[in-house]
Amino acid sequence: MKKLKLIPTPHYVDYKGGETLSISKVYVCKCVGNSVDTALELLAKKTDFIISEKSEADVLITLNPEKHFSKEDLEVFNEKYGETQGYLLKKEKNSPIIIAARSPVGCVYGIMTLIDLLGKDVSEIIIRDRPDFKQRGNKWQVWAESGIWSYDYGDGAEAIKQRFLQKIEMNALRKINVIYADSFGLDADRFPEYADILRTANDRARELGISLYTGCYGMSYGQAAFGNTFHEKNYLNRKSYPDGEVYECIGTYDAYDIDFDTETTDYSHRLDKVYAREHGTCLSNEALTTLKIDEMKDYITKTHCGGLYLHNMDAHEIHPELWKARCNSCRKKWPNDDLFAKDGCAGAFAEYFDTIAKELSQIKDGEYDASKHLKIMVVSPGYLYPVVTNDEDFNTGVDFWKAVSEYLESDIIAIGFREHFFYHDKDVRRAEKIIESKFKHDTIIINFSGGDGFYDDKIFTPTAAVNYIMKGFDGMLCANGNGFQEPLQLFNAEYLWNSESSAYFNIEDKPKNQTEFLKLYRSAIKSHFRPDEIYGDKGFIDVICEKIYGEKIAGNMAQIYKLCGKNGEPPILCASSVDIYTNFSKMIFPMRWDNTDITPEKIDEMTGRFLECSKTSAKAEEIMSQTSKTFNGDKAIKTDLEWLFDCAQMGKKLTSLFYEYMLIYTELDKAFASGEDFRDGIIDDINVLKVKIKDYNNWIDSSPRKPIDKLGGGLVRRKNMGDMLDYWTSLMISSIKTNKRIPDDAKPLPVKRWW
Ligand SMILES: [Zn+2]
Repeated sequence: MKKLKLIPTPHYVDYKGGETLSISKVYVCKCVGNSVDTALELLAKKTDFIISEKSEADVLITLNPEKHFSKEDLEVFNEKYGETQGYLLKKEKNSPIIIAARSPVGCVYGIMTLIDLLGKDVSEIIIRDRPDFKQRGNKWQVWAESGIWSYDYGDGAEAIKQRFLQKIEMNALRKINVIYADSFGLDADRFPEYADILRTANDRARELGISLYTGCYGMSYGQAAFGNTFHEKNYLNRKSYPDGEVYECIGTYDAYDIDFDTETTDYSHRLDKVYAREHGTCLSNEALTTLKIDEMKDYITKTHCGGLYLHNMDAHEIHPELWKARCNSCRKKWPNDDLFAKDGCAGAFAEYFDTIAKELSQIKDGEYDASKHLKIMVVSPGYLYPVVTNDEDFNTGVDFWKAVSEYLESDIIAIGFREHFFYHDKDVRRAEKIIESKFKHDTIIINFSGGDGFYDDKIFTPTAAVNYIMKGFDGMLCANGNGFQEPLQLFNAEYLWNSESSAYFNIEDKPKNQTEFLKLYRSAIKSHFRPDEIYGDKGFIDVICEKIYGEKIAGNMAQIYKLCGKNGEPPILCASSVDIYTNFSKMIFPMRWDNTDITPEKIDEMTGRFLECSKTSAKAEEIMSQTSKTFNGDKAIKTDLEWLFDCAQMGKKLTSLFYEYMLIYTELDKAFASGEDFRDGIIDDINVLKVKIKDYNNWIDSSPRKPIDKLGGGLVRRKNMGDMLDYWTSLMISSIKTNKRIPDDAKPLPVKRWW
């Protein structure tokens, strides 16, 4: 049977063609009330209809599925999350479409499916559907979960606000119910329009069943070392505030050295240093906790925040050393050195989280009621890595959080973990441990799986296709899907809802252990894994682009998201990109001329990467130039296309400058290493490059696009990179003239630190 190509694919569909599905009269049963009004608003954007009497209706929406559906159909409500989010949709010959659920949310999802069904060749249909994950999220930020507004195109506050609302709708239509909308920081006054944009977006998102999350630390404040990139107050443990004596308590603790490039842990020696022990970590300091809560309250009241991502103590595992470092006052309150005890570590953290949740739950502002509308996702100590955290430490971490969950009284809290696959030493999924543990609170994966500003910044990655491996956790926040990656937002939506029976692509030979899994996963992250069902003609990317951009230009747009260099290099659309070594966390760029801590192999690798990225970016620029100029449809889409064209222009210019710079870098570096004379004319070549850099900088300066996001929004690092290239090439000339590899006029390297 021909597939319907809905996104997300319902879990069960059976249908017959022969007619184009359309509607004109909708009856909403009294039991449903006005809880589906917003969904009907979206339906009205797709087709004209009127609200009618039951007898005349061609769509009937009800909370009484028993009245209309068979026993077999009703089984869907007994499946996980069926009762709360599942729905049934059917149309029999010469009968109205019936959408039924046991919850208003289920009815809403039924309407979203109807919207996707309109215009398709369907005369009869039955759909039984419910999600695989209760919470399903995309992340809109550039640079991991730490920073930057991808939807700030530099076209002003009002445009950004409207864009937030459009993109919230785009996600709601695909049954996404979480969006990580802003990062680490609780300053609602960071720029004048901030609170209004976030409040408007939060209120609208809530109407559409989406919680917008904002990230914050709550303690230890690692990112504060980056100064202006952090919007939150950075509290110290003090005997009294504002300026009493500073003291040490618990802090971030890593048991072993980790090499993140190779994902290996050095177990040969156990570390003993506990970091950042004075950075607002004390759990028994009531004055400190009150200060933090006041800051959270101010932010939440001003923004009507739907979710706080409380990153908390940034320790990826939980070990006794962390807890044993507590101050005397904490020791008095929680005397037990045990990690899991109520009078030990778990009890202390539970009490801290409960105090925060209890206070925040009381916030009310107009329609906003935090006790109903706010969720708090607590993330550490111990979010636990899938590869560098061994099985024993994984189990300890889950047991710790299970104990915290037992002691917690608040029900607005969820517990966040990193992505997890198999145990390392047995062929069992780590998610099984979560299922066995029967947490009282929701457990949520923050899924760093490429395209995340952490591992890489590819604009499309197929890794959501392995989401099934994490079934058993309640939710998943994909750590990708920003404004440069809209097709990825829909791809994520597909596999968050239906992780194993997609109408597009499913992993057939499922890996049976961690080794097999990592082989597949790493190949997907590197863009080497490119199944036809996703990348091929009429594959998933084509379908997604048709849904986002419309039929006319879908082919062009899909081409952009399929672009890939020799080693998986993507087109560069944002100047902060792991793929060209310019991600925002970098203060010391590996390709800077005044940093000699680099090998000839790495120099070759970088040169090759810049060359490939300059080719993919040039191709993207060519496609976007034509597409944005000829498109004359929807205004919002036109704006997106013009923005992406601007980004591709930047990417092409910047990567080709980097490539030319690396060619000169390579030649000069070799000359210095061998002591040979410099080639005649090399300074002229550098000066020619400097003129091109100047042109790039002038192009940036003359752009009317000005971000309101203090970190630079989607335009982040554009100018910074031009300035850096100008500086490094000047240093090269000094090096040649003075015959010094690091010339005297080089400024000291910035200090790289997190704590
Ligand atoms: Zn303490």
